[in-house]
Amino acid sequence: MIEDKNQPRTSISELGEFGLIDHLTQNFEITQKSTVKGIGDDAAVLDFKSKQIVITTDLLVEHVHFDLSYMPLKHLGYKAIMVNLSDVYAMNATATQVTIAIAVSNRFPLEAIEELYVGFEAAAKFYDIDIVGGDTTSSTTGLIISVTAIGEVNKNDVVYRSGAKPNDLLVVTGDLGAAYMGFQVLQREKEVFKVNPNNQPDLDPYSYIVERQLKPEARKDIVKLLKDLKVKPTSMIDISDGLSSEIIHLCKQSAVGAELYEDKIPLDPQVISTCEEFNLDSTTIALNGGEDYELLMTISQEDFPKIKGNPNLTVIGYITDKEKGMHLVTRGETLVPLIAKGWNSFKDQ
Ligand code: ADP
Ligand code: MG
Repeated sequence: MIEDKNQPRTSISELGEFGLIDHLTQNFEITQKSTVKGIGDDAAVLDFKSKQIVITTDLLVEHVHFDLSYMPLKHLGYKAIMVNLSDVYAMNATATQVTIAIAVSNRFPLEAIEELYVGFEAAAKFYDIDIVGGDTTSSTTGLIISVTAIGEVNKNDVVYRSGAKPNDLLVVTGDLGAAYMGFQVLQREKEVFKVNPNNQPDLDPYSYIVERQLKPEARKDIVKLLKDLKVKPTSMIDISDGLSSEIIHLCKQSAVGAELYEDKIPLDPQVISTCEEFNLDSTTIALNGGEDYELLMTISQEDFPKIKGNPNLTVIGYITDKEKGMHLVTRGETLVPLIAKGWNSFKDQ
């Protein structure tokens, strides 16, 4: 899209760094009570009174984490914020502010950066967070985006990865594997496009999985749902690298084992049909696909009646003693050890 010759292209060097920051941030609104000072000074000032603060950062690097040939910039901006908010919600906290740092090469005109900011602003608006600062610099090659998210939580409500106990239920939100299958479809279309640029892909049959890849939503609603249900998970983590790897993280940090039931893993019908088309095993994809941004948690057995039948929460297994290890119980009732094949940005490099 940034190569489109019909689009206006204003060089960012025309504005200069400060002009660019002003231009991009002039309309930002502050809605959080905890924001005392947002953009414009040497640092933002926040006041959280008696709350505990959670803070988390993610870095997204072009060609490593995203590919602009099919990722529209506004979706990228939106996703960059979602990735961070997901980590805040995984602490059972409310996200309140973000800061955004970008490094941009002169390959990008102002209009491209504006698109990115459309995505940042949309995310901030829908998730009710303030953008309170950032940094802007140049890059010699691609685009780099670093978002830091800040959230607040009552001291007694924080949920760590380390609290799972034997007999707790293993619970997951939403469904798994869709973002990865969306990625497979987009990759295939990119290859088709290289051979025949006039080919218009029909992505309709893949609308859900493509949306899960391009426009993921962090599970803000789950933090509220758990509060309404009066359920405090014993442990929680967000699913960025794949279910298998996140179960291993929870178990290691909690010093427990787990049994995961293959037939309980929630899959969207589009994931199942696309896996068939690509000749992939849907369980493997759900276990290792990644980028789902769902929440994986453990809850004590006595809370089961409170979550039973809730369409957002699926019980997929239970926690065991550490000695039992971590296993997938297949449909054929065989025990297969869980291994972390999660996405790893250092592999093959
Ligand atoms: P400094 O020289 O102290 O780093 P800057 O001139 O970089 O200050 O930033 C001025 C203000 O604009 C600060 O409040 C900073 O947090 C904010 N800011 C800078 N870049 C961005 C950006 N890309 N997005 C949002 N806010 C930004
Ligand atoms: Mg700066």
